[in-house]
Amino acid sequence: MKTLIFGGLTPIHDKLLEAAVKHLGYNAKHLPQPDIESLKIGREFCNKGMCNPAYFTVGNLLKFLINEKEKGVDVEKTYLFITIGACGPCRFGMYETEYKSALKEAGFESLEMTLLNQTKFSAEGEFKITKKLIYNLMKAVIVADLLRDISYQIRPYEIESGKTDKILTESTKMIYNVLKNNPDIKSIIKALKQIKKLFETVNVDYSKVKPIVNVIGEFWVQTTEGDGNYNIHRWLEKEGAEVKVEPISGWIEYQIFTEIEKTKLEIKVKGKTFKRYRKIFMLKVLLDFYRCLYESFRKALGNKPRSMPDQKLLWELAKPYYDPFVTGGEGHLEVAKHIYNVKFKKAHMTLSLKPFGCMPSTQSDGVQTKVLSDYPESIFVSVETSGDSEVNAKSRIQMKLYEAKEQANIEYERVLEKHSLSAEEVKTAVKMDNSLQNPFIKLSRNHLLTAAKFVDGNYKKIRSINGRTLHRKGFRGIKSAI
Ligand code: SF4
Repeated sequence: MKTLIFGGLTPIHDKLLEAAVKHLGYNAKHLPQPDIESLKIGREFCNKGMCNPAYFTVGNLLKFLINEKEKGVDVEKTYLFITIGACGPCRFGMYETEYKSALKEAGFESLEMTLLNQTKFSAEGEFKITKKLIYNLMKAVIVADLLRDISYQIRPYEIESGKTDKILTESTKMIYNVLKNNPDIKSIIKALKQIKKLFETVNVDYSKVKPIVNVIGEFWVQTTEGDGNYNIHRWLEKEGAEVKVEPISGWIEYQIFTEIEKTKLEIKVKGKTFKRYRKIFMLKVLLDFYRCLYESFRKALGNKPRSMPDQKLLWELAKPYYDPFVTGGEGHLEVAKHIYNVKFKKAHMTLSLKPFGCMPSTQSDGVQTKVLSDYPESIFVSVETSGDSEVNAKSRIQMKLYEAKEQANIEYERVLEKHSLSAEEVKTAVKMDNSLQNPFIKLSRNHLLTAAKFVDGNYKKIRSINGRTLHRKGFRGIKSAI
């Protein structure tokens, strides 16, 4: 049996998807994250005028095959490449052709390739899409989303540098084995509860003031963690931000929800049929089931990973600015997520990444100008990632990040003032009491900033550690002191 090779998501998603596929008896191997060399190879073998993700992903496959060939592996007999495809208004619809022509150019013409259709749940070639496979992939994606989110929430505050990544690697190995050998819900939930305990061993200092930056944009470029987006997530963390990452599950829900809305439109235009109603019913069941699975796994992790916004809400938010029936790329999601962040105070700053040559992102960018004029309080920046204009892109982000930091500081000062505390007193309390270093400690829901949530949720303890049991407003403090 040939080994299935695939890639293109985050390292943790690729790894866990590999386990899910292996459970069904396939040999599987994920490709490494694309780098600048992948881009160069992609540019050499792809047609001109493609978007950047095409160069990166095609080049990454070729780079892997070239390396394997140099090691003496007969790649065409050993591997079968699997990729996602769709017919669509953007260049994504041309990826299959592009892969084939680049493979031919590079001398791997007979490498077998299977295309998974993302909207029809079908596959061509030896690899078969079954309900069991879809179910296993769903579970792997959800777990990867949650672990990724939790690590991005904890890492910026870790006291011992590198501990979160160490726990993340350990957790990934643990859940990899579960997904490969015994991926039933009970076993996954049990493993996630153990993983929560592992994360509890990371001591954090939530008193660090770090603005929340939500990275949105074109699907691939906001997801990849490497040269494809200048390692933007890790770079933002080094610059003092807490990064809010987008779950791939959000994209899956978007696909299902859009299909429901399209079918409703079909009923309006072409008439009612049993088939159309049944389709809507089945898709709604799938959507509810997906959400239920997501929430169950999230609960096993102490509800620390963020819940996803409702697709209906995102649809409604974007509607006055961007026709949600216009698909291609992220569709209306870029605009909707920006508004969602500002309106519901979900991030201090929104960073939208646009790959060089991306048509849908350029379209969204035009609309964001109108959103900005309607929401002037928004801190928003959109940058193009071309693979070679890193300094320019990062300096633009730094300017906006400065504004976000100022906003975060104001928020923190307000919460300190509300509870008559000083920043020093909070720092002292964190140092003196280990229980305040627990990453799963109670955080208030009344704020956006993690440091503000921490103070608001634990001010009584912080005050008592500092020997200030009397509340300045008198009676309540006296009562608690007695
Ligand atoms: S959304 Fe943009 S970058 Fe992504 S495949 Fe389509 S055109 Fe290319």
